[in-house]
Amino acid sequence: MFEDRLKTCLDTGRVLVQEPMKRHTTFRAGGPADYFVEPATEEELKKVMDLLREEQMPYYILGNGSNLLVSDQGYRGVIVSMLALKDCRVDGNLVYAGAGIKMSVLAREILAAGLTGFEFGAGIPGTLGGAVVMNAGAYGGEMVQILKSVRVMTMEGEVLDLPAAELKLSYRYSLVPEMGYIVLGAEMELVPGEQSEIQAKMDELAQKRRDKQPLEFPSAGSTFKRPEGYFAGKLIQDSGLAGYRVGGACVSPKHCGFVVNDQDGTASDIYQLCKEVEACVWERFGVKLTMEVKILGDFC
Ligand code: FAD
Repeated sequence: MFEDRLKTCLDTGRVLVQEPMKRHTTFRAGGPADYFVEPATEEELKKVMDLLREEQMPYYILGNGSNLLVSDQGYRGVIVSMLALKDCRVDGNLVYAGAGIKMSVLAREILAAGLTGFEFGAGIPGTLGGAVVMNAGAYGGEMVQILKSVRVMTMEGEVLDLPAAELKLSYRYSLVPEMGYIVLGAEMELVPGEQSEIQAKMDELAQKRRDKQPLEFPSAGSTFKRPEGYFAGKLIQDSGLAGYRVGGACVSPKHCGFVVNDQDGTASDIYQLCKEVEACVWERFGVKLTMEVKILGDFC
């Protein structure tokens, strides 16, 4: 049986069956994945990926699910969670961390090492792997500015340490998905700084987030990419959509760039709301919004 074979790949990691994806996404929506596997080491991950290749099983790599909408029907395949690969080493100005480390935890490690340059990442609720894939950024900082190299597993199961430039990071883009790579970890180069100043900067940015963003509700952050020359939130607000609702999801009146799942909505509520927002902004301003949030599974 496939489940038994999956379990034999892991000594310490875990395998779950029919696992609701609402437990693993910050939108708190989404139906069951047939299988959910969380390898605890690179070796376990390699065994899992070898098996999935042999069985020709569809799979999807998951970080913290903070930029992901999974359909209510769930996912017919294997979700591979990277959360357990979260080691972190500091060597002078260089920091290497596993893909599954949360950005907030990594920010604390970097602060403790007295290094500056990562303050922008402290409030991003994803993993390092997800941040590399998305070239996550905030308040003028972006992953591309600090990444030195990225450790990936190829579709053939080979492990490569690539110079970050090879992944062509730009606004919310990297080559990782196109190449079918799995990010295993990354090395970042930072500069020595005063711990009190680093802490003060992180506190200031956290306050800005609390003031401007609806952090009290499930969401995936900025739902749409910034269209060139515009701000998605302003276009949505100027279209009169603040507070506009489909089922349990609405356009946050606090920040129109955020779709929030404030009333236990379904993935389909969230998706339909996004499509209506796109259509309305197009009709009103002739500007095409595209989703920053990744979509997994079937939506009609
Ligand atoms: P996931 O959502 O799990 O995955 C995102 C994509 O990356 C998926 O396609 C997945 O397959 C892929 N992926 C994840 N890990 C790996 C891996 N190891 N190898 C290969 N592929 C992988 N984003 C910003 O850029 N700036 C912000 O300021 C910001 N603020 C946010 C605020 C809130 C309240 C929320 C909820 C989200 C915010 N986001 C922001 C969005 C999100 O946190 C980022 O995009 C984050 O980088 C996603 O990381 P993740 O680990 O959650 O990735």
